[in-house]
Amino acid sequence: MTQSYDVAVIGAGVFGAWTAQWLQRGGLTVALIDAYGPANSRASSGGESRIIRMGYGAEEIYTRWAHRSLKLWQELFAQTGRQELFHRTGVLWMARTKDPYTLATLTTLKAVGIEFEELQRDELEQRYPQISFGEETQVIYEPASGALMARRAVQTVTEEFARSGGKLLIEAAVKPLGTGRLSEVATRSGNRIKADVFVFACGPWLPKLFPEFLGGRIHPTRQEVFFFGPPAGERRFTAPQMPTWIDFGAEMYGLPDLENRGFKVALDRHGASIDPETAERNITPELLDEVRRFLAARFPAMKDAPLLETRVCQYENTSNGDFLIDRHPDFDNVWLLGGGSGHGFKHGPALGEYAAARITEGGETANRFSLATKQAVRNRSVF
Ligand SMILES: Cc1cc2nc3c(=O)[nH]c(=O)nc-3n(C[C@H](O)[C@H](O)[C@H](O)COP(=O)(O)OP(=O)(O)OC[C@H]3O[C@@H](n4cnc5c(N)ncnc54)[C@H](O)[C@@H]3O)c2cc1C
Repeated sequence: MTQSYDVAVIGAGVFGAWTAQWLQRGGLTVALIDAYGPANSRASSGGESRIIRMGYGAEEIYTRWAHRSLKLWQELFAQTGRQELFHRTGVLWMARTKDPYTLATLTTLKAVGIEFEELQRDELEQRYPQISFGEETQVIYEPASGALMARRAVQTVTEEFARSGGKLLIEAAVKPLGTGRLSEVATRSGNRIKADVFVFACGPWLPKLFPEFLGGRIHPTRQEVFFFGPPAGERRFTAPQMPTWIDFGAEMYGLPDLENRGFKVALDRHGASIDPETAERNITPELLDEVRRFLAARFPAMKDAPLLETRVCQYENTSNGDFLIDRHPDFDNVWLLGGGSGHGFKHGPALGEYAAARITEGGETANRFSLATKQAVRNRSVF
């Protein structure tokens, strides 16, 4: 069977879903194709929850995109009656005093006009007695930021896409071969999808699909997530008493107990290499020990909290954390979107808007998003 579209987007994670949605809003016929379905359990977008915060050091573009994206997520949730998919928990950024990234964040937040508070020691201890702040702590609080219920948020985008006429297909696309203009992609089930433009938004699968130019340049790492059970009747680990938080120095972050699912804690440090397709998703005992030690020190009341649930996901890291939004080097009408690098989820709406505009209106993407800037050395600078 052959089907024909203006654009075929391969990959229904947060990047592909929003890009497809924007292309369709622009009046194009669009197919959105995923091997396992939108925000599936292997996908980077398949987790329970993701942080949306505005602080990005001196990287103003990401502050602006996060701000724009929060508005677009909220509009989508209002329009679809799914307001529960964003929790306005506030986000608490904890760092060592005079940490340069944190100081740059303050400057950017001011320049862009983002609401924030710089909390002093006595205010912190009064507001959050359940957190032990340690000796040297500089804290920024973003009251309007919070948590997105990731898997369901992406599925809301794809439901909206399908409801308004987009074609959602569960198919595995086969790697396209050749050069010049691509006219169709084959799927493993033997179907053919014709389109004028193809977008590969395959997240951590991109280096498997295109090893000749992305191997080593997008590096998927194993990331473990832990949900701990607060003591019975204890509400200090739920919102609004507990904000979403990032401990920059310890490379840890977490979310309050949302929907009574448990207090989420995860390490932002890059883990071992992972294959998103075949990986078994069991946590490592050493990492659990490290997280428990951190939990006991930062949140003393959670010292003996039982582990309720775990997830193993993957970051798809570029050399420095900048996204990839560029044309395929061998095909004029094929685009590559990815490199979310552990911070991409929140940006889905703005990234999709930007990518759809480049695809339909032409023009080069910003240098930081280009394939040419994606190096094999790992030197993370965007968090
Ligand atoms: C543990 C963890 C915590 C994170 N925390 C945050 C956070 O707090 N805030 C934040 O903003 N970001 C966060 N991120 C990052 C964010 O989740 C990712 O950057 C984002 O989800 C990447 O989306 P994607 O669409 O590029 O990839 P994916 O969601 O992986 O989507 C790619 C899709 O492509 C499909 N696919 C692949 N190959 C094919 C093929 N050949 N044919 C058809 N389909 C195919 C897959 O099935 C998959 O659904 C986190 C990530 C992890 C793992």
